[in-house]
Amino acid sequence: MKRWNGWGNTETHYPLPDSSFGFLQTKLGPLTILQDSSLDSMLSAVPKSRLPFHPLIDTKPETRLRHARGQSLPDWVALNHCRVELFPDGVAFPQRVDDVPKLLKFAGEHGTRVIPYGGGTSVVGHINPFPDGHPILTLSMEKLNQLKGLDNVSNLADFEAGVTGPELEAQLQKNGYTLGHYPQSFEFSTLGGWIASRSSGQQSYHYGRIEDQFAGGQIETPQGRLDLPVFPASASGPDLREMVLGSEGRIGIITRAQIRVKPLPETEGFYGVFFPSWEQGSAAVRSITQNNIPVSMLRLSNPIETETTLILSGKSWIDLADRGLRLIGYGDERCLFIFGVTGSSAQTKLSRQAVVRICRAHKGLFVGAVVGHAWEKSRFISPYLRNTLWKKGVAIDTLETALPWSQVNAASQDIPESIVKVARQSGEQVLVMTHLSHIYPDGASIYTTYLFRRTVDPDELLERWSAMKGAASCEIQKYGGTISHQHGVGTDHKPYLPAEKGLLGMEAIRAFTKTFDPEGMLNPGKLFD
Ligand SMILES: Cc1cc2nc3c(=O)[nH]c(=O)nc-3n(C[C@H](O)[C@H](O)[C@H](O)COP(=O)(O)OP(=O)(O)OC[C@H]3O[C@@H](n4cnc5c(N)ncnc54)[C@H](O)[C@@H]3O)c2cc1C
Repeated sequence: MKRWNGWGNTETHYPLPDSSFGFLQTKLGPLTILQDSSLDSMLSAVPKSRLPFHPLIDTKPETRLRHARGQSLPDWVALNHCRVELFPDGVAFPQRVDDVPKLLKFAGEHGTRVIPYGGGTSVVGHINPFPDGHPILTLSMEKLNQLKGLDNVSNLADFEAGVTGPELEAQLQKNGYTLGHYPQSFEFSTLGGWIASRSSGQQSYHYGRIEDQFAGGQIETPQGRLDLPVFPASASGPDLREMVLGSEGRIGIITRAQIRVKPLPETEGFYGVFFPSWEQGSAAVRSITQNNIPVSMLRLSNPIETETTLILSGKSWIDLADRGLRLIGYGDERCLFIFGVTGSSAQTKLSRQAVVRICRAHKGLFVGAVVGHAWEKSRFISPYLRNTLWKKGVAIDTLETALPWSQVNAASQDIPESIVKVARQSGEQVLVMTHLSHIYPDGASIYTTYLFRRTVDPDELLERWSAMKGAASCEIQKYGGTISHQHGVGTDHKPYLPAEKGLLGMEAIRAFTKTFDPEGMLNPGKLFD
């Protein structure tokens, strides 16, 4: 069963070695274990539903609680401190695609707002009810998870959009195919959610972002069905898929999606390299992409992320490796680089050799498959670390952007520094780690994770978070970076969107949303007010 107030399934844990708490306390100060709200106290806060009976709508308090919030830091605070102010009045579970337009009609007849819900893994407030006085229906796509067709001449698959990552890959891989879309939230996030929030998987360098993979499909809107036919390419005016990508549930429910899939690769491997400094690492990574070396994944951690990764891994060989690295001159400024190669044996061998050659030219030390393999093994389990840390009194949040290479090194320093500065002003310590997560020939995405102490007073915690997140977001905008490379806008990034899109751009977004949803029935309060 899924946790109602944390990440993932209740049976899955990510324990940390005791030694790592010593390390965290040196970085954050003494940690205090705090009491969280009980499920019973939360359930007693769920009010009576305002919706009339419908056979596909569940109005039980626990179902409504479990769909009330996503995975952002404010969501965790709300759930663990009994601070959820608004719950959906019911959760609809359409059993067939045809149920979706009927549910939209029902919602329209009862003046109800509708929140499309995939896996609920949003980290920016995408699926939270908005207080505008109307009843709220969350529409879960959970039951619509089937592969409906596979064109193995064109390598196109047709899926119901509620399919989660593991369900999608299982159905494809049985047929010898893969989508290769692996966001870290893969275990629970869905195809519809990926499209609606413009998701990016960890191997997007090889498989493409969701906008490359989404070829067409069906969207049920309050004004009827929008069909997006599939073409390999088209010059027939603006591409309507672009209105659906990143629409964050505001124009309709994506019920079916045709996606571009690939035959399963013959082989895949992940490898590690240490660089003596960030500058050498980022120069190597840029060179790999600008020389078009066919890799599938690239990730360069800054020195503090490198140190933290090694310590938290708790592996017995780390001490030995650390001493060895220091002996040969890879000291406190060392940066860990992990890369992946995916494809035929011959091609992956050539790619690996080319990457190693470039890394060596930038003083990188190739350490083989051990570190890469450890990353691969923990790639979808590492979000469970958040539960462990929370219980020990540590809050954690992430933020991300993408920028041209000319800005990457400076912004990678200044974004984390802006968070540290704000924490220092309030007399707190914060552990801020950064890596380049998705790499392009013209730039990279910078992904920052920050850990800080929980406070007894949840408002104080939110204030602290808001100050740090705000400072980093302003720094991102100062550099001209996008407010999100992959997490989307939701409510948390909404204030920063007009600076990026411009007033005319925002007007255009509002206008096309209104075309599909003139009454503003779908997911109000997200993307724009
Ligand atoms: C631990 C963790 C790791 C993450 N890692 C990544 C990552 O590596 N890459 C990345 O891109 N993101 C990542 N995310 C963010 C999140 O997983 C993505 O935004 C994901 O795309 C959301 O998918 P979902 O199915 O959970 O959507 P939800 O959270 O349920 O919804 C997100 C938005 O999409 C809309 N929506 C959902 N389904 C539909 C539909 N069928 N039709 C219309 N609108 C719909 C919702 O209304 C909402 O606005 C991570 C989140 C967590 C918690």
